[in-house]
Amino acid sequence: MKITNEILDHWDAIAGLGCCIDERPAEVAHCHGGSISDQLDPQYRPGMAQKQNHWLVIPLCREHHRGNKGLDTCKGGVRGWEEEYGSQIEWLEEVSNRLGYCLFKRAGAAGYTYQFMDPPVGAAEPEPPATDALEGADAL
Ligand SMILES: [Zn+2]
Repeated sequence: MKITNEILDHWDAIAGLGCCIDERPAEVAHCHGGSISDQLDPQYRPGMAQKQNHWLVIPLCREHHRGNKGLDTCKGGVRGWEEEYGSQIEWLEEVSNRLGYCLFKRAGAAGYTYQFMDPPVGAAEPEPPATDALEGADAL
C-alpha cells in the first residue's frame, strides 16, 4: 500500500490525538492481529503475513507502541496487550469518532459491521453515554 499525501495527513491527525492509553506524545501504530484478525474480512487483516493497512492505525506513545508495554513488543503479544488496554477494533472506532471520519470505510473494510455516523453539519453535541459510575461509587 502506497504512502500518499492523504495517508500522511491521516497519520498527522492520528499522532496529534496523543497516546490512546496515557495521552503522551504519540507515534502512528499499525493495527494487526488480535481483534483485527478476528473481526475484519480476511483481505483487510493486516496480520503477520499481510501488508498492514495504512488507514488502520492508532496513536500510541513509544512505550505503548514498542516498549515493554508495547502493542508490537509486550510479553503477552497483541492479545495480551488488548486484554490490558482494550481491543484495537474499539480503539479504531474511538479514533474514528474523534477524527470525524471512519477508518474502516477509508480502509475499504466494508465487511466490518461498525457503522460510523457522520454527524450532520451544525448538529448539537450528542448526549454523553450513560455510565455506571455512580453505582460503582456505592460499592465503596
Ligand atoms: Zn502511552
